[in-house]
Amino acid sequence: MKTTNTEPRNIPADEETKRPTATPDGQRAEIDTSKMSDGQRAALELTEAASDTVAEQGSFGQNLFMGRCELDRMLPFPEQSHEDQDQGDAFLNRLENFLREHADPDEIDRSGEIPDEVIKGLGDMGAFAIKIHPKYGGLGLSQTNYCRAAILLGSYCGNLTALISAHQSIGVPQPLILFGTEEQKKKYVPRFAKGEISAFALTEPGVGSDPAAMSTRAEPTPDGKHFIINGEKLWCTNGTKAGVIVVMARTPDKEVNGRKRKQISAFIVDMDTPGVEVVRRCHFMGLRALYNGVITFTNVKVPADNLIAGEGRGLKVALSTLNTGRLTLPAACTGLAKKCLQTVRKWTKERVQWGAAIGKHSAIADKLARIAANTFAMESMTLYTASLVDRDKQADIRLEAAMCKMWGTEMAWKIVDETMQIRGGRGYETAQSLKARGEEPIAVERWMRDCRINTIFEGSSEIMRLFIAREALEPHLKVAAAALNTQLPIPTRAVAAWKAGLFYAAWYPRQWLAFLDAGLPQVPGGVHPRLAKHLRYAKRTARKLSRRLFHAMAWHGPKLEREQVLLGRFVEIGTELFAISATCARAQSLLGDAKRDQDVVALADCFSRQSRLKVDELFRGLSENNDKANYRLAQDLLAGNDEWLEKGIL
Ligand SMILES: Cc1cc2nc3c(=O)[nH]c(=O)nc-3n(C[C@H](O)[C@H](O)[C@H](O)COP(=O)(O)OP(=O)(O)OC[C@H]3O[C@@H](n4cnc5c(N)ncnc54)[C@H](O)[C@@H]3O)c2cc1C
Repeated sequence: MKTTNTEPRNIPADEETKRPTATPDGQRAEIDTSKMSDGQRAALELTEAASDTVAEQGSFGQNLFMGRCELDRMLPFPEQSHEDQDQGDAFLNRLENFLREHADPDEIDRSGEIPDEVIKGLGDMGAFAIKIHPKYGGLGLSQTNYCRAAILLGSYCGNLTALISAHQSIGVPQPLILFGTEEQKKKYVPRFAKGEISAFALTEPGVGSDPAAMSTRAEPTPDGKHFIINGEKLWCTNGTKAGVIVVMARTPDKEVNGRKRKQISAFIVDMDTPGVEVVRRCHFMGLRALYNGVITFTNVKVPADNLIAGEGRGLKVALSTLNTGRLTLPAACTGLAKKCLQTVRKWTKERVQWGAAIGKHSAIADKLARIAANTFAMESMTLYTASLVDRDKQADIRLEAAMCKMWGTEMAWKIVDETMQIRGGRGYETAQSLKARGEEPIAVERWMRDCRINTIFEGSSEIMRLFIAREALEPHLKVAAAALNTQLPIPTRAVAAWKAGLFYAAWYPRQWLAFLDAGLPQVPGGVHPRLAKHLRYAKRTARKLSRRLFHAMAWHGPKLEREQVLLGRFVEIGTELFAISATCARAQSLLGDAKRDQDVVALADCFSRQSRLKVDELFRGLSENNDKANYRLAQDLLAGNDEWLEKGIL
């Protein structure tokens, strides 16, 4: 029996008092930038100014780093309502039938082109307007149903997934849904419902992960009615097909607190505007039918009405768009992981070597079990996070979406790699070649090529770790940053230090109180004992995580921000705890079918056990590691000291 869990959660009064208070509510903690280079400071100030403030109650992911694993947000697991599921099913059935009948993923990969009739057919069924409100002609489906569509697409064709996702996860629809004026929505959104494609142009040759270095300029005309855009954008997915795109450009600097601050603004640009030119289509290792291009802008005159969210708010538009938008990638990765699971389950049963099915050999059996358990975890994390958006469109899912993106895309790569290993030589052979030899054309090598980009775009894994670490530290910074900020006057720092002392005197001892981990939220019939064990582990380990993070902050002070590898371990521990919680909570919600219960518990149990081993290893790595030696070696390499090692190559 499905339950719905759509009520906003009430925060108990005692939890409210546990939130840090040294910084005024709704403001982000100010970071000391006095010891940074100009480039680092500019990048940090720009992203900090564009970041959302943290909701006072914190999100599930963020509170893990403060020692609180709030399982009452997960249990009962927020299942889709029947009504929402039915709406999704109707579209998914149409999409599935269309894909089966009209789209051949291997042919799309081989030719590097998506046939026009496939794009048209997708447009006609509303696939470019899945989340768009019906009043603008869209399907008006929920985030969960959008993720289900991404799962279906991700299991079938990476190129079609990228086409649809780049258009509505990061292209024009999403920023307009979030920030557009009614006029902008009326003008542009119905075009997507009719099948028009859009794109998102941020990257430039010198601007990848760091938008502060952006060189595309948008200068206002003297009458203020237009902006003139000049510059070049790189790797714009859908750029060679799109009718309209979002362009990020630098507008004139503004003075903030006596210092000039760079401004980035977001513009809606029609591709037929004079001066817009697609100068090249780019080609990649995978996603060979990606309509990705280099676009130049030469004196492109754009109405000021096409600014999204106002001048200087472009980075906020980009970051907010990506917060929800990047959830499509783990959903698509879940689809691919399911396809891999289906493939290896069949293959490990039918392929006989050394007198037994390869699935009976423990080395392969272990891989099969891990693929299944990790797929279940990936789906659970993604569906949980999607449900947060459906419950509250303004929900702060930054951390959860980033965790899903980082964990899901890295795990999908491991899964496709293991799938290739299990398929042996057939994994490495193209589908076309397999077919020509009369074998089933299973395209593992295509899946692998298409999958690799996921850890790079829409926020690389390294940037996701930095982003999660920054958000994880925010509650602590709110308390302690002012005390450590050498740019502030001594009396201000002294007051901040006193407040921080008071906060930590109450907070720190609580992180040692083991009895706080005993209780679990009530669910009908009680939590299954094998799942309860792991959920309690997540609760007590969140306290340990927060203690160790606090110790690291006390030890490193403001320099902790530079310890990327160390911070990465904290981020990974938090992400594993999120994964264990979501997986066990979802498993609990699926119980009630006698034929399936044992398998569901086994999947969650297997996942949680391996995740706990990983967490133990990560904790060990906090104190025993090679971080300093590796950094020194890397700097020697950068200085050219070990060039002899590269001798003897062509
Ligand atoms: C197929 C494809 C499609 C794309 N589609 C789009 C699109 O539609 N629109 C768009 O605007 N862009 C798009 N991009 C660009 C993509 O988002 C960028 O490639 C990505 O942001 C990374 O930038 P970069 O490649 O310049 O790497 P860089 O930023 O140069 O980074 C190189 C490496 O250094 C790491 N790194 C960078 N900064 C730090 C740091 N501070 N600390 C630690 N590590 C760091 C990165 O993680 C990466 O591993 C696409 C790219 C590709 C390949």
